[in-house]
Amino acid sequence: MNKNIVKKSSLKILICIVLYIILVMCTLFIDSKGGMIIHIGKGSIANNSFNGVINALQVLICVILVCIDYKKGFIVSCVLYGITFALMFRTIIRLHVLTPFVGMSHVFISIVTLAILSRFFWQRDKALITDALTQLINRRGMLRVLSQKCCEKDTFDIVYVDIDDFKFINDNLGHENGDYILKTIAKRLALLVDDKGFACRIGGDEFMLIVPAKDDKKAFMNEIINAVAAKIEIVNDDSSRDIYVTTSVGMVRYPEHGNDADSLLKYADLAMFHAKKEGKNKGQIFDDSLAKEMIRKSELEVIIKESLDKDYFFLVYQPQFEINNKKLRGFETLIRLKTPDGNMISPGEFIPVAEDSNLITRIDEYVMKRALREFKKLVKNRKESIVLSINMSTKDICMTGFSKKVEEALLEADFPPECLEIEITEYCFAHAIDIAAANIEALKKLGIKIALDDFGTGFASLSYLTKLPIDLLKIDKSFVDNIETDIKSRDFASAVVSIGRVQGCEIISEGVENENQLSVLQEVGCDFVQGYVWGKPLSYEKAIEFCNAN
Ligand code: C2E
Ligand code: CA
Ligand code: CA
Repeated sequence: MNKNIVKKSSLKILICIVLYIILVMCTLFIDSKGGMIIHIGKGSIANNSFNGVINALQVLICVILVCIDYKKGFIVSCVLYGITFALMFRTIIRLHVLTPFVGMSHVFISIVTLAILSRFFWQRDKALITDALTQLINRRGMLRVLSQKCCEKDTFDIVYVDIDDFKFINDNLGHENGDYILKTIAKRLALLVDDKGFACRIGGDEFMLIVPAKDDKKAFMNEIINAVAAKIEIVNDDSSRDIYVTTSVGMVRYPEHGNDADSLLKYADLAMFHAKKEGKNKGQIFDDSLAKEMIRKSELEVIIKESLDKDYFFLVYQPQFEINNKKLRGFETLIRLKTPDGNMISPGEFIPVAEDSNLITRIDEYVMKRALREFKKLVKNRKESIVLSINMSTKDICMTGFSKKVEEALLEADFPPECLEIEITEYCFAHAIDIAAANIEALKKLGIKIALDDFGTGFASLSYLTKLPIDLLKIDKSFVDNIETDIKSRDFASAVVSIGRVQGCEIISEGVENENQLSVLQEVGCDFVQGYVWGKPLSYEKAIEFCNAN
């Protein structure tokens, strides 16, 4: 696209040059006629007036040139005026007259005027492409630089730099301090690019460096990560505090990974996103496997949408038991996807894709409605109470009005709220803890149970526990896997049980596969188990049979 713009503006400049030269030739022609009057047909016009019109047109052409491109246009104008100037000088020498002096002063004044105009355009352009807070190049400027560089032959690297959890920093330290941190990071990043590179701020906490191809890409990414990670001292009126910020970095190379601005930006963003997913404070160089992952992700998005529209999803139910007497506690609802060609796609693959888009909300709504509908009869007809557990994405829990939606679904299905349990995970709660807490409180008021899934894999488990009214803690499968041999996993399970007791929650272990794991969990005091050892996920019909048999 930029190539077209460059071509178009070059063409406009060329047209102006040709017009200007035609006007110069007209002046030469008039001069060659001599005399004060020019005869055109039956009419006549004074030579001076004709020259005046031509001069005015020349000024107009030069103004247009500067408007087209304040830099190139000004240079071309100076060259053209230089030619005019030389011709005037020639006339003085040849004809020994001083009249061209008037024209020469005119040329001089025009050049000064054009210089002022060009400077005005330059300043306006600079403001348009400069970020007001950090004085780095802004997104608009970055796109311009990138498009220009994509028209050149030299290889270069693009590094996408995204500050980790910046919203958290802003919320906790205030926006003024947040701005100070951004400015400090901007200065450090600017120092990492030399004269040939560009440091840009392309969004709130997103930066981009465009630099000549580096010999050691990893080392450069580490330089960036370390520069951002260095201590930032915030001094307020009466106190000072040290802040440490981390960043995730993605890197791509032109033209190896892409030859236009759009794909380079997309790939740099993808690499950065990958670094974030890998635990933040990391760098990732774009490669083919990431491209494949991206293609697969878009494929999956299409499949998910189609499956929602055409109802390819179905549900399975995995039984949960009391650990001491193997009595059925209830079932966890797990979604399955079978495409018409018979392919099963694991939720482990499509749920994260749905989480990244907003499709997860549609999936969760589908699961809730279908599970409530399928289980209603069973739950109502059974003498002993049974729990139907449903996984809900953090996106739902952090959405205003979520509890209302659940209430409506319960009413519509005529399902007893006390038999419903909602499993939530602790990830990303920090960003919307207030909304999440309000939703959870409202769900509790309805009588619904709340389980905290994958307990121990997040990083803020304890702080959430004290804030939220949780009924059940689910010890993550990763701790159960090694519990027979790994003393740390066993200690963890034991600690979770103690925490649960203090907080008044019950404890379930998921992914329990054998009797040895079972007996360790029994020893540490776990209340319930879920896992292949006592029951794999079952189809709806099998789950009903299983339930009746128990
Ligand atoms: P999760 O909620 O932690 O679910 C437990 C996963 O462990 C399930 O995998 C289950 O089939 C598997 N599992 C249970 N017991 C055992 C065992 O003894 N051994 C082994 N190897 N695996 C066991 P699944 O069904 O593939 O689900 C994967 C994840 O996908 C779930 O993890 C959950 O995060 C998500 N998911 C599944 N269904 C839904 C859903 O309906 N809505 C949402 N939002 N997420 C879902
Ligand atoms: Ca779960
Ligand atoms: Ca889990």
